[in-house]
Amino acid sequence: MLSCRTQKRPCYRPIEVIDTDRKIAVIIGAGPAGLTAAHELLTRTGIKPVILEKSTYMGGISRTVNYKGNRIDIGGHRFFSKSDRVMEWWSRILPIQASENVPATIRYHRMERKIDVPSKTSPSANPDNVMLVRARKSRIYYLRRFFDYPITLSQDTVLKLGLWRTFKIGLSYIKSALFPLGKEENLEQFFINRFGRELYATFFKSYTEKVWGVPCSEISAEWGAQRIKGLSVWSTLKHAFLKLFKKPETDISQKKTETSLIEQFLYPKFGPGQVWEEVARQIVEMGGQIITGCKVEKLLTDGWRVTALETTNAAGERNTFAGDYFFSTAPIKEIIRSFDVAPAQNVVEVSDGLVYRDFMTVGLLVGSLKISDQTPQGKRLVRDNWIYIQEPDVLLGRLQIFNNWSPFMVADQSKVWLGLEYFCNESDDIWKLSDDRLVALATEELSKIGIIEASEVLDATVLRMEKTYPAYFGTYDRFAEIRQHVDRYQNLFLVGRNGMHRYNNQDHSMLTAMMAVDNIIAGNTDKAALWEVNTEMDYHEQKSSGAETRQAQMAAS
Ligand SMILES: Cc1cc2nc3c(=O)[nH]c(=O)nc-3n(C[C@H](O)[C@H](O)[C@H](O)COP(=O)(O)OP(=O)(O)OC[C@H]3O[C@@H](n4cnc5c(N)ncnc54)[C@H](O)[C@@H]3O)c2cc1C
Repeated sequence: MLSCRTQKRPCYRPIEVIDTDRKIAVIIGAGPAGLTAAHELLTRTGIKPVILEKSTYMGGISRTVNYKGNRIDIGGHRFFSKSDRVMEWWSRILPIQASENVPATIRYHRMERKIDVPSKTSPSANPDNVMLVRARKSRIYYLRRFFDYPITLSQDTVLKLGLWRTFKIGLSYIKSALFPLGKEENLEQFFINRFGRELYATFFKSYTEKVWGVPCSEISAEWGAQRIKGLSVWSTLKHAFLKLFKKPETDISQKKTETSLIEQFLYPKFGPGQVWEEVARQIVEMGGQIITGCKVEKLLTDGWRVTALETTNAAGERNTFAGDYFFSTAPIKEIIRSFDVAPAQNVVEVSDGLVYRDFMTVGLLVGSLKISDQTPQGKRLVRDNWIYIQEPDVLLGRLQIFNNWSPFMVADQSKVWLGLEYFCNESDDIWKLSDDRLVALATEELSKIGIIEASEVLDATVLRMEKTYPAYFGTYDRFAEIRQHVDRYQNLFLVGRNGMHRYNNQDHSMLTAMMAVDNIIAGNTDKAALWEVNTEMDYHEQKSSGAETRQAQMAAS
């Protein structure tokens, strides 16, 4: 039952909420961060959460879209975290599927501990409500050939690149190792210092620029620090060498493995949305409320406290939700414009200048691919979960093969269910193409680079997602001015990905929500720890023991 009273006229009165004797937390957004906040409040406090969600689905960017029984994961979501807190939280929501394999090992505080993956599913448990342990495979497609990702300096790579190009790569790497660029301010400098100019130009520049739509020299080095943690030619070589002597990895936490080299991850049987739908179910079961089709338009304040949120629904009806605490996972750019008392001009200026990148997936159901893996049993579907398309003659950025995330993502497992990903801006022509034209473009591009025959396409659908990537350019370098403003509202917590304008994965988004609840429980009004999540910069660790300590703390959280 919904607690709001709907009115046709504007309503500025606080909404009636059941259990008025309990404190209320009003949460904007039913994505991972909003749902985690609500779940934590219900399990750890007496506070009642009320989630206001503008769409009709659960999971935000991490939802799963079901198209005729074929499921699309927007971007492909690996469930992996260096945080035990998050790993344990996920497996409480959906346990790991019963397996006869040896128990997986989780490293904890640099120690190892085993977790029991049951050898049999309990008869009372729903066999569909499980996480699968999946192998990660992703390669780069370039020059109409596959290259390992991360790049390995193998004989195969050398043959595919040719001797001259390999020589130039080696030379420019040595140059970067001996004479690194002094100050790393942008992503181009970050890449060159780790990989050398030639390897950067061959394998990183074109894809990264497809993703962001701007030159790497205009992107902050902070992006690299967050996303390419600790990865370098040296660590790639070391990894390849150690792999020769190592038993297969059974550690699902994999703390000693750098994020870009992870080889196993958890994945819900029916895609990421399954976790978030289950969390939503539990929230309602425990007495929380989730109100969908309800867009937050205004934050009402009294001094430095938020007192209520004003919303509209699809019918244009307005409501007001009063509360004691407020969480927002909505894009910060929209929140800044939603305060009833306008922030200082500089804050509005920085907020208006924040940039996002948008994202489209074309789902293509095909009979077969032209590419395959050769096995002793014959040819089979390539094992990649996703493939980076480095080819500069197509707009296509990445290709998902949903069969390889979970076979249960595909209605008829004899078919191949693909996601063709295009990174763009809402203002771009490609965003505005009709679905039919976009499907035609996607089909043509995939045939052009030799991955399918156009005649193999059986069905297709298109998804457009706004603001999937908060960018580290535009006015991002002045973000502290926004933070200073919002942090003054003691009972307002900005959490998650767009909520904090951070390139946060689910685990980071969840940790910010968990830590906000920690703050409420502890009566702590200092939000610095929340802003620290996902700022661990492993490349600093190599130089500074202070940063290393901080990283160790982050990993333990
Ligand atoms: C391409 C891609 C690949 C990714 N891969 C991974 C991965 O492999 N692993 C991983 O862990 N993470 C991955 N992520 C990141 C993950 O998707 C996000 O970290 C996570 O979804 C963020 O959760 P959130 O709750 O902060 O925000 P969101 O998921 O964006 O949810 C926010 C919710 O708020 C709602 N909302 C917004 N404004 C309002 C408003 N005004 N009123 C009411 N409701 C509102 C939205 O409708 C949405 O439901 C990926 C992301 C992308 C884009």
